[in-house]
Amino acid sequence: MVRKYMRFPGGLGKAVTLSYDDGVQQDIPMIALMKKYGVKGTFNLNSARFITRDHQYPEGKVWRAMIDEDVVPTYSDPICSVATHSAHHPTLLNASEAEIAQEILSDRIALEKLFGKVITGHAIPNGPYDETTIKVGKMCGLKFMRTAKATKSYKYPKSLMPLDPTCAHSNPDLMELTEKFLADTPKEDPFLFYLWGHTYTFEGDNNWYIIEDFMKAVSHKDDIWYATNDEIFDYAEKFSLLECSADGHIVSNPTDTEIWFLAGGKVHSVKSGETIRV
Ligand SMILES: [Zn+2]
Repeated sequence: MVRKYMRFPGGLGKAVTLSYDDGVQQDIPMIALMKKYGVKGTFNLNSARFITRDHQYPEGKVWRAMIDEDVVPTYSDPICSVATHSAHHPTLLNASEAEIAQEILSDRIALEKLFGKVITGHAIPNGPYDETTIKVGKMCGLKFMRTAKATKSYKYPKSLMPLDPTCAHSNPDLMELTEKFLADTPKEDPFLFYLWGHTYTFEGDNNWYIIEDFMKAVSHKDDIWYATNDEIFDYAEKFSLLECSADGHIVSNPTDTEIWFLAGGKVHSVKSGETIRV
């Protein structure tokens, strides 16, 4: 038997991704920071909450939804991707299956129409959920549903439905965890540092430095893959499609993507359509 552990593109053992909720106006300066540091991520949008340009918020209100005309130009930047967050942002716990399905599907359909892409990610609005939420999410074609439950770990997640993040940017342990992640080396499964939050809180709490310090710390490392949520989970899905001989020494790649893995203490790669011996 030859155990194979996924490695990210280029044979890298670590990845960093961001997940930011609600589709608010502060996502624009966030995207500028992500581009400055080369850190990628996914924005979870409520398609029924975008506003028109003439919408007036009360003075001092920091939660300000994205203006409808700005949605596509803002989130089409290749530094990010989009996912669903329900159309209206209700708590999905204890809602009927039909209500949950309607919230997820109407958001998915609206966003797919706007962006012309297949969208299969989701962040659960407000936090609470149960097995029904996940079951309906699967029926709606979702491939990952992010929770708000911090694992305080950067081990590659065992489950994507639900998917527990490493932590929120407001977690007091953020920088300590980041330092540990940077110093650590994966011996088996790869590492994924998955950070989530809301960008409007940087304005409300006047602490944009938290995310800038994080990005500065993790950026431009040779051993880290910077990717959106979708890029990471699509790649992992393709890794799971590798076909192996009974003794594990012959590996065939039926996917359209070159796949890297660690086996026998060495990093191997198998190109699309190729069969190799390890
Ligand atoms: Zn939200």
